[in-house]
Amino acid sequence: MIQLINNTVIGNELALVWGDGSECYIPLETLRKHCPCAACQGEPDAMGYVVKPAVAHTDLSFQLVSMQHVGGYALQLKWADGHSSGIYSYELLQSLA
Ligand SMILES: [Zn+2]
Repeated sequence: MIQLINNTVIGNELALVWGDGSECYIPLETLRKHCPCAACQGEPDAMGYVVKPAVAHTDLSFQLVSMQHVGGYALQLKWADGHSSGIYSYELLQSLA
C-alpha cells in the first residue's frame, strides 16, 4: 500500500513525499501530457484498439490550480485551462517520476 505524505508544487514541478520517506519530482508538463483521462488518452473501441485523440495544449494546460486526494490511492489534478478529469493513481505518479 503506497502512502502519499505530501504533495506540493515547487516551481514547475510537482514534489511528492511518499510513506517510505522517498521523494520524487515530476515536471508539470510531463504530468499533463500523461493525463490518464479518456479525453486525453482515448478509449478502446469495440475491437480493443485505442486511438489517441489529438489534444491541444496551451501554456495554461501546464499550470496546476489545485490537487485533491481521491480515496487514498490517487490525486485528482485541476489545471488552469479548466481540465480536471484526470485522476492520477500513486502508481502512475511514481512511474512518471
Ligand atoms: Zn485529461
